[in-house]
Amino acid sequence: MVKLEYEDTFVKVAGILGDDDYIRVARALLNNPDATDEEIASATGLKINKVRKVLYDLFERGLIVGIKDKDPKKGWFMYRWKIQHDQVEVFLNKQRSVILRKLRERLDYERSHTFYWCGTPTCKKYIFEEAIELFFVCPECGNPLKEDSNKDLIAALEWKINQIEQENIKNSERKNSL
Ligand SMILES: [Zn+2]
Repeated sequence: MVKLEYEDTFVKVAGILGDDDYIRVARALLNNPDATDEEIASATGLKINKVRKVLYDLFERGLIVGIKDKDPKKGWFMYRWKIQHDQVEVFLNKQRSVILRKLRERLDYERSHTFYWCGTPTCKKYIFEEAIELFFVCPECGNPLKEDSNKDLIAALEWKINQIEQENIKNSERKNSL
């Protein structure tokens, strides 16, 4: 997988949706706005069918639009593709809020339960109510179930939630200053 930390948001979104081919198509479109299928295929070295599949997916998700154009030499119609930058932002915001909701749900769950575990990496952890039912014995390996602190996990979840919230604040400040 290619590193996307410093990439344009459009390329990042492409990387979320698909494989490296998506990233290559997105980069080609970013470097050559209004590119045609053929131009993207030759810029990426990908087969035209693969390029069209990626473009169609991005189009269906509203991230790009196709402008019909006539090839001056050959006289046939083709599409020139344009990135819908505002839709890319909408997509990323939605994505972030889904992740944030899931993280908060998980954090609530972790905070409101005590977990019990036998210490065997392949065995699962149990909440208190389950551990009572099992008489505090792991049904998989037979070892005793002991209280397992989830402090580290809670701290990691809090950190991640805070990071996304800060990112959201930064993004809305940037939007307001435009
Ligand atoms: Zn076990």
